[in-house]
Order: sequence, then structure tokens, then C-alpha cells
Amino acid sequence: MIIFGSRTSSKIVAMLVFVCGACGREAAQRLVRRRTWFTLFFTPIFPFGHGTYAISCAYCGAHSPITRENADRFVKDSEAAQINAEADRILAAEDARIAAEQNGQGQPPLQG
Ligand SMILES: [Zn+2]
Repeated sequence: MIIFGSRTSSKIVAMLVFVCGACGREAAQRLVRRRTWFTLFFTPIFPFGHGTYAISCAYCGAHSPITRENADRFVKDSEAAQINAEADRILAAEDARIAAEQNGQGQPPLQG
């Protein structure tokens, strides 16, 4: 006997922090992709179509469906935000190192 069916799974694809359209608070907005899979013996084999996308607010839990085009943009924005955060961190560390060198002129920083 062959057992087949379908299963819908949700997955957080990306995250951005911005003002929520529902609660008006600045909170993490999660891009959630829902996909229905064809299953064989309860194992997902292949998905039906591209799935649907929604933005879920971490603060109020509001679920707003968005188009695939907007979802793609969301992913790009979140990737850009992560790259910028990483660049800021590296630059800040570099600034601190230069400042320490200039202040101490090779000597260890004073305590207290
Ligand atoms: Zn909200």
C-alpha cells in the first residue's frame, strides 16, 4: 500500500526590523514562506508551486500576505542590512584599534 498526501510547512526566510503596519511599533518582521509539499509515506517529496509569503510581526503577531516580488525584495534588503551591520562592526573595531595605538603609542592602556 502506498501512502501519499500533502503537508504544509512554514519557514522563516528572512528578518528585518521596521515599523509594523498593524501595531505601529518598530519590531522584527519575519518573512515566512508557506509551502505545500507532496508527501509519500509522510516524507515531503516535492513542493507544489512556489508557495506563499507573508510578513509576521514579532510584537503583535499580525500576519500580512505579500507577493513573491516583495518577498524577494525583503530578502535582498535583509541581506543588505546584515552586510551593513557587519561592515559597521569591522569599522568600529578598526577605529578602536587605531585610537588605542595613537593614545598608548605602543604602550598598554592605563588602568583606572
Ligand atoms: Zn505588529
